[in-house]
Amino acid sequence: MSVYGYDLSSCATCAYWGGSRKAVNMRAGMNVDNYETGPCGHINRRGVQCSENAVCQDYLKWSVIKDHSLEIITG
Ligand code: SF4
Repeated sequence: MSVYGYDLSSCATCAYWGGSRKAVNMRAGMNVDNYETGPCGHINRRGVQCSENAVCQDYLKWSVIKDHSLEIITG
């Protein structure tokens, strides 16, 4: 489980990432580095497994966290 805010650009906050995550509207107050992996849905990667803390040139901010009050919790 790790926590990501709007400003962090990684697979965990990317629209294409298919790993386990949810958006919450409270400060979770934790950031444990236990990285999840999940499939990338971008057409160039076709489901390859990506770590939540990776990032690539095709990164696209997940629309859910354009509401800056939300954070992403993985795992
Ligand atoms: S590999 Fe790139 S496109 Fe795929 S989820 Fe990660 S940042 Fe997004």
